[in-house]
Amino acid sequence: MPKIKKLDPKVIDQIAAGEVVERPASVLKELLDNAVDSGATKISIKIKKGGLERIEVQDNGCGIEKDDVSLALQSHTTSKIESISDISEIKTMGFRGEALSSISSVSKVTIRSSTGEQSNPASEIVCTYGETGDASTVSMEAGTTVIVENLFENLPARKKFLKSEKTEYRKLLEVFIPIALINSAIHFTFNSNGRDIYNLPAVKNAKNGSLHPRRVSEILKDIEFVDLFYDGEGITIGGGVGHPRHHATRTSVQYTFINGRPVWDSGVAKAVSVGASRFIPEDSRVPFVVAVSIPTHQVDVNVHPRKLEVRFANPYRVYSAVENAVKAAYEQNLGADSEEEEYSRFRKSGVVSPSEKSTDDRALRLRPRAYEVKKSLEFSKMLLEDSDDTVYSAEGEPKLTASAVSQVRQFLGRYILASVGEELWIIDQHAAAERIRFEKLIDEFDKSGVPYQNLLAPMELQLSDSDLEFIKEVKDILESLGYFIDISKSTANLSAVPESLKEADHQKLIQELLGELRDIEDFKEKGKVLAGKYRDSVIATMACHSSVRMNRKLDDAEARSIIEQLLKCNNSYSCPHGRPIIWKLAQKDIDDHFERG
Ligand code: ADP
Ligand code: MG
Repeated sequence: MPKIKKLDPKVIDQIAAGEVVERPASVLKELLDNAVDSGATKISIKIKKGGLERIEVQDNGCGIEKDDVSLALQSHTTSKIESISDISEIKTMGFRGEALSSISSVSKVTIRSSTGEQSNPASEIVCTYGETGDASTVSMEAGTTVIVENLFENLPARKKFLKSEKTEYRKLLEVFIPIALINSAIHFTFNSNGRDIYNLPAVKNAKNGSLHPRRVSEILKDIEFVDLFYDGEGITIGGGVGHPRHHATRTSVQYTFINGRPVWDSGVAKAVSVGASRFIPEDSRVPFVVAVSIPTHQVDVNVHPRKLEVRFANPYRVYSAVENAVKAAYEQNLGADSEEEEYSRFRKSGVVSPSEKSTDDRALRLRPRAYEVKKSLEFSKMLLEDSDDTVYSAEGEPKLTASAVSQVRQFLGRYILASVGEELWIIDQHAAAERIRFEKLIDEFDKSGVPYQNLLAPMELQLSDSDLEFIKEVKDILESLGYFIDISKSTANLSAVPESLKEADHQKLIQELLGELRDIEDFKEKGKVLAGKYRDSVIATMACHSSVRMNRKLDDAEARSIIEQLLKCNNSYSCPHGRPIIWKLAQKDIDDHFERG
């Protein structure tokens, strides 16, 4: 039997290092967390060979006293918590007190630090694979510089798992970017192999731990974000969600922050997709940068050694807040046109502007920032209207009008090919018609109910007994949708139908509507008003029934009219069920394909 022995502390540290230190990127993460915790206003990062050779992080924070500097390298030493109860209120990035000791057990670590106080000399200490030297006195400004060299040089088995310099470099950026995004009050510089990659000056009046649009746009230059706001039940949400035109089946731009901490939480990503679902094709994603603040006791950050995941006391509350914020952001930015409409949307979604501060804590509060932007766009649109072909869309980018459409033809009876400006558009005519009809119906429904037309002769509906019963319950709703039904003991006669849906198969459509309405559980409490996602989904069903069917021949004028109406839609990117509408091929894509660069 082998003897049971107590492990050497150095071996214990090396084993612990496996949890915290996986690769250069994990070292960078710990060093940056420490630098942020130090209260620094400037952090400089210098990398050599993807961090395989050297990682240096310099800050101008609080520094470490000479007497403490060797302690910092020992395991379970921290200045951040004292007892386990502190963890539930944790506000710093680090608290386990094992990062520096783990890193120094598998690399050569040099720490130089100064508190900037006369009474405390600045010091330097070197620790090589767990062997700590003596602290010597040096002279330097207040702050700390940590240099990590030759990672895993003492553990060939671990070193083998490191990837190429390029891959490790990419992973370093994956660590750096979220930290730089969420700490916009800190000036960051990032230098790799002697080249300056990022220089991000501190954003004036910004606060670390929340997202600032300036920093976001400096780092994620190519993406236009729609601002997110939510404030209710102790949860606040900030940041932005990418404009629907950025949708893609994959996107690496999905950043989540919980109380200033970069994390990955699939629930938040899912909530963004659900919130965006009416604006983007099914199964596609939009970029997002979402910061959630939540009372510290409602979230556990101590579930993952590298603190990459968190656990919420009430995940549903967080996710539904994210979903609502995304949906409201899109609806307000890509939707409403007039002041009144904007205002009515604020009312409808339970959203109030700061000027009418509600005492009801449960009410969502969103700032009507989008509205202000729209006002100024409205103005520039007016200026441009008579003089130019382009107008500005709600998002501020030049938007094409129907006059940019030079040629159209129908293809296979279901697609429209159009040459628009310098692009070739392939339009799914059914999806386009559905989107146009959907937006028109929503508009009508919100104003005063869908307009209806009386039938010359009432039409008897074939319904089951239970449908007949249910129809009585939802009579008001059906009427707001343009369907008037006279119900007697055993028959239901249709007397009026939605004006724009005259040709639909009413029997079938009504049955589908009943099916959908049955699924709305909280319907009775809602005073039988169709609202929110239920409204959208029921009206999407109607839009689907009325629209141009596949394989229907369109003449030139009809095809043009579809494009014209589509261009006027708030969202011309996807049908109400989330399928894409337009496939745009830019001249450049086409040239590239034929190798005409
Ligand atoms: P933790 O961050 O979990 O406390 P670390 O091993 O990362 O543990 O750091 C140990 C201690 O060293 C910290 O608690 C802090 O007191 C000190 N420290 C490390 N890096 C810095 C820094 N850049 N500036 C000031 N103090 C630091
Ligand atoms: Mg730390």
